Amino acid sequence: KSFNSLSLSRPILKGLNALGYTTPSPIQSASIPIALLGKDIIAGAVTGSGKTAAFMIPIIERLLYKPTTMPATRVIVLTPTRELALQISDVGKKIAKFVNGVSFGLAVGGLNLRQQEQQLKSRPDIVIATPGRFIDHIRNSPSFSVDSVEILVLDEADRMLEEGFQDELSEIMSLLPSKRQTMLFSATMNSRIKQLISLSLKQPVRIMI
Ligand code: AMP
Repeated sequence: KSFNSLSLSRPILKGLNALGYTTPSPIQSASIPIALLGKDIIAGAVTGSGKTAAFMIPIIERLLYKPTTMPATRVIVLTPTRELALQISDVGKKIAKFVNGVSFGLAVGGLNLRQQEQQLKSRPDIVIATPGRFIDHIRNSPSFSVDSVEILVLDEADRMLEEGFQDELSEIMSLLPSKRQTMLFSATMNSRIKQLISLSLKQPVRIMI
C-alpha cells in the first residue's frame, strides 16, 4: 500500500515524496483515514512509529478542505518538550512544503518570548507548543486567540503528565472550543491518562498498533 491510496491531495503527496516517505507506517495507515473523517483518536504509539506524520498529514489535509479568509489558529499541537516541538514543526513544514498558505508557529520554553508573541499575533494556522509556555501566551497575549481552534493534538500525553503538566492541560482544555477534533498519542495507558482522555476526547476511536 502507498500513500496514494489514502486519498490525499496532490501537494501533500508531493511533500511526502520529497521527504522520502513512500509507504505509510502501520500507525499512519490506521490513523489517517479516521482522522480525515474528523473523529477523535486515541493512539498507542511510541516515538519511531511515524506518529508525527500520522497526525500532521490529516491535519494539513483537513485545513485544505475548508480554507479560511481571515488568519486564524486552527490547530494546536501540545508536546512535552521544546525539542519535540521543533521536530514536529520541522516535519509539518516539510509535509506542507508544496501546500499554499499553511503557516506554523511555536510556543515553547527556552525561545525568546517576545519573538514568539510577535509570531503568534499573526495567528499561524498550526501552533506547536509546550503546555507551560502555551498557557503564558494565552494569559498574556491579548492579540492571540484560541477561539477558532478546530483540532487539538496531545502528543506523548503520558510524558506530559510525567512532566507535571496536568493542571496546564486542564486549563487549556477549558479554554479551547469544545466542538473540536482531539487526537491523543501515548506510549502507555494508565489511570491518569484515562482521566485526561475523559476530560478531552469525545467518543474516541482507539488505535493500538
Ligand atoms: P516519529 O515516530 O514521528 O518520530 O518518526 C520516526 C522516524 O520515521 C522519523 O525519522 C520519520 O522521518 C520517519 N518516518 C515517519 N513516517 C515515515 C514513512 N511513512 N516512511 C518513511 N519514514 C518515515
